[in-house]
Amino acid sequence: MASIFTKIINGDIPCYKIAEDENYFAFLDINPMAKGHTLVVPKSEVDYIFDLDEEVYSGLMKFAKKVGRAIEKVIPCNRIGLLVFGLEVPHAHVHLIPINAASDMDISKDKLALKKEEFVEIADKILESFESMT
Ligand code: AMP
Repeated sequence: MASIFTKIINGDIPCYKIAEDENYFAFLDINPMAKGHTLVVPKSEVDYIFDLDEEVYSGLMKFAKKVGRAIEKVIPCNRIGLLVFGLEVPHAHVHLIPINAASDMDISKDKLALKKEEFVEIADKILESFESMT
């Protein structure tokens, strides 16, 4: 069965899209640790990130860097933290989280409850930033 992220990539489930190319897709995390918390996924569905073949793995990191640069231009933060755990969704992905302190990477903290309009506003800003860089 297709993962929830494959369904998002295929447009079967809605998302707040940030960026896409032939092989990778980025969208806002629905339970964000910070405003601008973004997930970057390869379109090919593999559960464990270290099982990706070398080319897809390095391409994912390269694409995540571009998305991270777009986020930091429009979301005030000290830098973008990069996290990988993948315990919930069995489709390899990277979390990009705008942070100001190490504690902002604490996954046990309460997530932000954002309104739909806030997600839309954030996604639009990052998308515009990404597109201006490419
Ligand atoms: P993990 O697999 O442990 O890295 O966590 C999966 C992440 O995907 C969590 O941060 C969820 O909030 C996020 N997530 C799950 N379903 C969706 C969805 N439909 N849209 C956006 N983010 C999602």
